[in-house]
Amino acid sequence: MRQSLIALSVAAAMAAAAGCSKEAAQAPSADDKMQVQASATADAKGSVVASNPLLAEWTGPYGGVPAFDKMRVEDLKPAMEFAMAENLREIDAIAANPEPATFANTIAELERSGAELDRVFSYYGIWAANMSSPEFREVQGELAPKLASFQSKIIQNDALFQRVKAVYDAREASDLDAEQKRVVELIYNQFANNGATLKGEAKERYAEINKRLAELHTKFANNVLADEEGYTLFLRSDQLSGLPESFVNAAAALAEEKGQKGNYAITNTRSSMDPFLTYSDNRELREKVWNNYYSRGDNGGEHDNNAIIAEILKLRDERVELLGFDNYAQWRLQDRMAKTPERAMELMEAVWPAAVARVEEEVADMQALADEEGADITIKPWDYRYYAEKVRKAKYDLNSDEVKQYLQLDKLREAMFYVAGELFNFEFSPVEEGSVPVFHEDVKVWEVTDKTSGEHIGLWYLDPFARAGKRSGAWATMYRDHTTFDGKTNVLSSNNSNFIKGAPGEPVLVSWDDASTFFHEFGHALHFLASNVTYPTLNGGVRDYTEFQSQLLERWLSTDEVIDNYLVHYKTGEPIPEALVAKIKKASKFNQGFATTEYLASALVDMKFHTADPEGIDPDKFERETLEKLGMPDELVMRHRTPHFGHIFSGEGYSAGYYGYMWADVLTSDAAEAFAEAEGGFYDPEVADKLVKHLFAPRNAVDPADAYRAFRGRDAQIGALMRDRGFPVPEEKSEAKETTIAVKD
Ligand SMILES: [Zn+2]
Repeated sequence: MRQSLIALSVAAAMAAAAGCSKEAAQAPSADDKMQVQASATADAKGSVVASNPLLAEWTGPYGGVPAFDKMRVEDLKPAMEFAMAENLREIDAIAANPEPATFANTIAELERSGAELDRVFSYYGIWAANMSSPEFREVQGELAPKLASFQSKIIQNDALFQRVKAVYDAREASDLDAEQKRVVELIYNQFANNGATLKGEAKERYAEINKRLAELHTKFANNVLADEEGYTLFLRSDQLSGLPESFVNAAAALAEEKGQKGNYAITNTRSSMDPFLTYSDNRELREKVWNNYYSRGDNGGEHDNNAIIAEILKLRDERVELLGFDNYAQWRLQDRMAKTPERAMELMEAVWPAAVARVEEEVADMQALADEEGADITIKPWDYRYYAEKVRKAKYDLNSDEVKQYLQLDKLREAMFYVAGELFNFEFSPVEEGSVPVFHEDVKVWEVTDKTSGEHIGLWYLDPFARAGKRSGAWATMYRDHTTFDGKTNVLSSNNSNFIKGAPGEPVLVSWDDASTFFHEFGHALHFLASNVTYPTLNGGVRDYTEFQSQLLERWLSTDEVIDNYLVHYKTGEPIPEALVAKIKKASKFNQGFATTEYLASALVDMKFHTADPEGIDPDKFERETLEKLGMPDELVMRHRTPHFGHIFSGEGYSAGYYGYMWADVLTSDAAEAFAEAEGGFYDPEVADKLVKHLFAPRNAVDPADAYRAFRGRDAQIGALMRDRGFPVPEEKSEAKETTIAVKD
């Protein structure tokens, strides 16, 4: 059921090729599902299910696992159509129940429904993110409007909503436990926030808008992808000055793959652009690569996204107006931890001036260095990473490539397992090769058990390497989540990255940032695995809260235990020298002006777009004017410019929600200080206990603000974040008056 309600956003989010995102989860399959069906239907259903592997019950070890070895794109459309129809049939039966509505016959049944659809979505997600192809994208385009109308049919099923409402209205008087009450409230809100309270024409218009938005979101994502694929730059061997050997080797292999043996391919993705701009000595080429990357979706012609954005903004605004909201952001934030756009803006505006002031200092440092070199230039956006790296070397004497020698992918994975063992009491053991089907030979699987009791908890799939058809970035997802209401289910979690494969027999060396991201995504997986909730809906994430747990996990990368045992040189096996670690820690405050400003600019523009009157809006002009008003420095751009801002326009997962990363950062810094202050530091058993109990295991079964207070004994404060970034903590806001971000209600 949860899957059905969020189907649309999942589909769109899956298509987004941007950033880290925890994609939606799966509801458990109900084993007794077949028994409740009329026999005739069951027979017909049985044959469809049997002939389509995407619909079939998961079989094999570990409570059944997805048949990733049997995936064929041609099965997707019939499977999805069947699963949607089946889910609607189940929902009609719930709505038509002549008995008075109760938790058991309405809410619990909804939680139970949609098992086939959940299974199909697991495969769909793999195609959308890990194994895309033109064939899949064609089916995806055909399915998008069907998924939207399917979702509308559930949301607009008035008989169903009336039953949900009856349970909701009676919730205080019923003897529901706290978790059940929260499920009822979350489900009711999903309906109410999505137009279920509407009648007649308004209701029809609402559904029309959703359908059109789904098309636009998909089109937006595909346009960005087209511009990523369409702007590969091929270099000659005399154009490689400054580039590290590993990068050059990867570029050579890529060029060969693309039929240009002897040349070097620079793809139009973040993983190519970022190192190229950091190291290439060729300023003209840097400008070209920069232009290609930051013009994605903004090149005129058939893949330009500006008109699509204007239409999206208008439709979103019209839709929330039907529900009585002033603007999209207000509607979007009501069930977030921030609760209102004003609270989110308040946080961003508190940090923005310090970030911009730091950019000025960084640019001054870089300009001085360029002048000293006699470069005779003014720092431009395509120079920022390049000179920042030089300043880093000069001032912090930290060579990213030297650091890499100590960051081996396999060792990092072992380090993560160690951390999970210490904090969560989890043990990871590789499953026997071939015992669990995978969708690509690179994917490996581990079993997760409780270290003490040996109890099985779930599986962890890892798809580590970049390849054609895989979206960029890193993300976590799950194929099945933990629930207990129909018997305990195990968790099937996965992490996905885009590391570049090393030469055969060579270890994969990664950057410090990529190592952090690896830990980050593992934090999402631990969040899935640690769940102790009863109902599927309670596994859902609260967008400005769910990044917090994963961001916090990044902190363990630089703990002494990990450094001493896992960050060892790939040739000598020596642990990373103390002096280098000290430099890394010092350097973590370096370039925070750039990182914070490029991020906040995107987050602020997102919020401005979604609080503005969209009538006649010109996205290009709006972006320019908003940045001007903010006093955006000339030397850098938004991390995601509007025409390729997939987080907010490829779907609605992060729309009016990109601020959530910083909201989560505040919680992260504040929670990390709880460990830093503890007697046992980052492995303090008491704080770790509280961490698992209050911040991971409850998922969304407890209001995030309450959960955080239970962990910390107070609301989060922004001082820790300012200290982490090396920004001054505003004096009038220090101590007792320091800005807190939790809503007191
Ligand atoms: Zn994340």
